[in-house]
Amino acid sequence: MHRVSKIFHPADSMLQKTKNTFGSKNQSLLIDYGLMKPLDKGTYYYLPILQRSINKTSALIKRFMHKIDAQEITIPNLTATEFWKKSGRYDDYQSELFQLKDRNDKMLLLGPTFEEVITHMMKFGQNIGEKQMPIRLYQIGNKFRDENARYGLLRCREFLMKDLYTFDMDKESSTQTYEEVNEIYDKFFKFLGIPFKKVEADAQQMGGNLSHEYHYLTPIGEQKLQECSVCNETSVNSTETGDSECPKCKSNRVEKCSGIEVGHTFLLGDTYTKRQKAHYLKGNKPVPMQMGCYGIGVTRLIGAAIEKLSTDSHLRWPFPIAPFSVCIVPPEKRSKAFNAASHYLDEIHNQLNSIPTLHDSILVDDRIRVTVGDRFRDARRLGIPLVVIIGKKASEPENPQFELHFIQEEKECYLSFNDLIAEITKYTQEKLKED
Ligand SMILES: [Zn+2]
Repeated sequence: MHRVSKIFHPADSMLQKTKNTFGSKNQSLLIDYGLMKPLDKGTYYYLPILQRSINKTSALIKRFMHKIDAQEITIPNLTATEFWKKSGRYDDYQSELFQLKDRNDKMLLLGPTFEEVITHMMKFGQNIGEKQMPIRLYQIGNKFRDENARYGLLRCREFLMKDLYTFDMDKESSTQTYEEVNEIYDKFFKFLGIPFKKVEADAQQMGGNLSHEYHYLTPIGEQKLQECSVCNETSVNSTETGDSECPKCKSNRVEKCSGIEVGHTFLLGDTYTKRQKAHYLKGNKPVPMQMGCYGIGVTRLIGAAIEKLSTDSHLRWPFPIAPFSVCIVPPEKRSKAFNAASHYLDEIHNQLNSIPTLHDSILVDDRIRVTVGDRFRDARRLGIPLVVIIGKKASEPENPQFELHFIQEEKECYLSFNDLIAEITKYTQEKLKED
């Protein structure tokens, strides 16, 4: 059982009031409510409640990756600078790289992305035959980028990211892979339930030829975008002046907006594989593989989701990645309901916990010396989607009723034990439905 009193949570009371002091809601709320702590500029300790959301997000991404037969691997973060010099990216990226030297004066860097290194690994597969293709490998791990960190999880110097690399036999099949990954990205972002914009992006910077970005629109987003009011197309706005036109319908009825990039797809061709001789065998002939790379910023996505959904004083999460799905508030020690209704706590907890989609996602606010009202306030601030209160009406012997609050929807109802379980089950199924 997850108990509020046991959760490591460095704040004086459970949740203190917050003022949006950092200019972004995710940074203010996560720090003030004790979900993360800064260590240095752009690096954070993720504390237990936030860590749960990170774990859920990672698990969800893995599930979607496995739908397209991608296999999980781990790539070392510590990589020789030489790879970046050979690929030609070193000069352009140098200022963003964290670099260090080993005891033999060999230059190393902490990877911000891994195209060079994974291509180097694929070189070892010189005996990869046509039957093994396509190959899709991904990892979820920390990345490092030396830049101006700001807005909490939106721009960090150390951050968690999913990166997928795909290898195909020819251009046609790699384009198919590109479309397949884009489709699974569409489904993933749709599943999270926050409106997103997909825009065509410049593929040049990575040395590729096709690229898309996935954005959440918010005023603090760093990517300048524009929305066309005629055809609804969103595109990158690269102009300094106001006179821009929609690339699709050529209308100039476009409105500027800002986006946070939460996902990115690149079709890379053979830029990296040719240079590093990452080949497969076509018959007996070695042929460079066709490559693609695909990112989702895990911690940035969480920060961006909080930015989109939260108020200045209340955290809100997409249901699938909320740290807990349900919070149960048992009666206060001094109340009459304490003796008459406390026994329902275990029953409700066990019933809900036995539902597979809710398993391990039930929080019990066991601080029985704190009033129900104060505990309910804390659960709302934390943004737990469903709150069950075992209060006065639960102690009626004839027809005990439980209070169910839908936090996002700001509504509540009283239900019998069976109806309570049924209603929560229904709500959860609805929220976790995949197309
Ligand atoms: Zn248009």
